[in-house]
Amino acid sequence: MTASQLEIVSHSPAETAAIGEAIAGSLRNGDLVLLHGDLGAGKTTLAKGIASALGVAGVVSSPSFSLVNEYDTRHGAITRLYHLDLYRLRTEDDLASIGFDDFTAPGEGITLVEWPERASTVLPDRFLLVEIEPLGSGGRRLRFVAIPDDEISRRRIESLRSRIASNID
Ligand code: ADP
Ligand code: MG
Repeated sequence: MTASQLEIVSHSPAETAAIGEAIAGSLRNGDLVLLHGDLGAGKTTLAKGIASALGVAGVVSSPSFSLVNEYDTRHGAITRLYHLDLYRLRTEDDLASIGFDDFTAPGEGITLVEWPERASTVLPDRFLLVEIEPLGSGGRRLRFVAIPDDEISRRRIESLRSRIASNID
């Protein structure tokens, strides 16, 4: 594993949400977080934790029908949360119609994308990838990969490591 990766095991949905809350603390305007994993892996559970830490009012659910949900936050520096779920995207051509490029570097908010592999040819150079893998009996392996593998990404992973450690028992 390189220095710009981090692996942790979550033992429950509540722990996954707590990890999401910890992640939120290291996010800044313009950040893009890709949530990768099969149906039921826990992508939306993690997104809910992030949203909760940003003080998003109301229930964050998978934006399955609209592809994009937008929320106002109650967080000083980050004012908007964009939550995309590309599961129902038919072709990458449809990304243009939802203005995908605008979400990959949001000026005043952060963007979470479920099923980012649907947009693999139009991803920007810098993002945080979270791969979620079921382990059985409610466990999930979460692998954080900061792209590209450079100094900024290494610092980002170090920040995540300490925030997650202090938010999880
Ligand atoms: P996705 O968005 O990846 O399809 P969801 O977050 O909507 O997945 O659903 C994950 C499901 O798996 C939920 O029913 C949740 O209760 C369950 N689950 C069990 N263990 C975990 C865990 N450790 N982390 C996240 N979800 C878990
Ligand atoms: Mg989901």
